[in-house]
Amino acid sequence: MPKIILPGHIGKILARLEGRGFEAWCVGGCVRDALLTREPSDWDIATAALPRETIACFPELKALETGIVHGTVALMTEGGPVEVTTYRVDGEYTGHRRPLDVSFSRDVREDLARRDFTVNAMAWHPARGLLDPFGGREDLRARLLRCVGDPSRRFDEDALRILRCARFSAVLGFRIEEGTLSAALSSLGLIGGLSGERVRDELTKLLCAPGAGGVLGLYPEIILAALPELSHLPEVSEAPPSPLPRWAALLRDCSDGAARGLLTRLRFPSREISEIARAVRQLPLAPKDEPLAKRLERAGMTVSGLKISGRDLLGLGYSPGPGVGAALESLLRGVISGELINEPGALLEHAGKIM
Ligand code: ATP
Ligand code: MG
Repeated sequence: MPKIILPGHIGKILARLEGRGFEAWCVGGCVRDALLTREPSDWDIATAALPRETIACFPELKALETGIVHGTVALMTEGGPVEVTTYRVDGEYTGHRRPLDVSFSRDVREDLARRDFTVNAMAWHPARGLLDPFGGREDLRARLLRCVGDPSRRFDEDALRILRCARFSAVLGFRIEEGTLSAALSSLGLIGGLSGERVRDELTKLLCAPGAGGVLGLYPEIILAALPELSHLPEVSEAPPSPLPRWAALLRDCSDGAARGLLTRLRFPSREISEIARAVRQLPLAPKDEPLAKRLERAGMTVSGLKISGRDLLGLGYSPGPGVGAALESLLRGVISGELINEPGALLEHAGKIM
């Protein structure tokens, strides 16, 4: 059983709910991060208790009810607010965002099935251990982002998941699994229907992540679908993680008017728009308009820049055919994103694993 150290106030909430007969688990990002030995940003709890039942279990705590129609109650504990959400099944989706209605469930597995990626769809309980119906742990080990269920359907339900996928890839340094990637790329047209705020929030998290530069280089089409005002993506360094300089770096080749228009559409507050615009003006001029593919090529980042060739893969036991090209592409992605070293031993070992 994986070892996870639970903060005291979270353990108390689980114990209280279960003591009253309501099953409860830690779910989502906190389980993922704890298994990766990253500090979780918050600990979310999912429970069979209905929101009113949850509130009744904690008469001594103030409960914030703003999310109650979606089943979420925020308990104000001594360790800070903790979100407790009733197991949910999402109804039909509208407009490729938000389900039409949600219904509550008493089955945690149903709740896990509506979640976006396998690594985000695990539950953990101090006594029962890990509940992982979709192979999230294995994908964590392989550092892969994979949709729960049919990826085309999941992106069609909610196009924000495409940006979340790119965001998690940048934050965690994970590769996007082939089927998930090809579904994401075929669903890019749906991104245009997302609200400005949601695009802004996801892209801000992406741009501030350590792997932002790699993800922009690997999946430029995803970012360009969210920001169609840009004709190309400039190179974004891994440097200062402040959101405003990050946005400024992204918009460096835009005119002042175009940058302000884009930021207004994304509903940035006007003070931030001015700050970003000022930061753009202070940036040194970039080498003009070199397309990304060219830049990668210049940096030796094409399949031919890999330190092994298709012939080496045949030597490993690959059969001649399109599989060889696909494996080389996947190695290249690994090298660009920094997960693989461009060195024959490491490449061959990885090629052997994905054969
Ligand atoms: P972070 O560390 O950024 O908070 P997180 O995984 O907790 O990462 P949240 O956006 O806080 O991400 O969402 C919490 C959980 O809710 C996710 O782990 C996932 O299980 C689920 N979730 C959130 N947004 C979606 C979505 N659009 N579609 C499906 N599941 C989602
Ligand atoms: Mg979270």
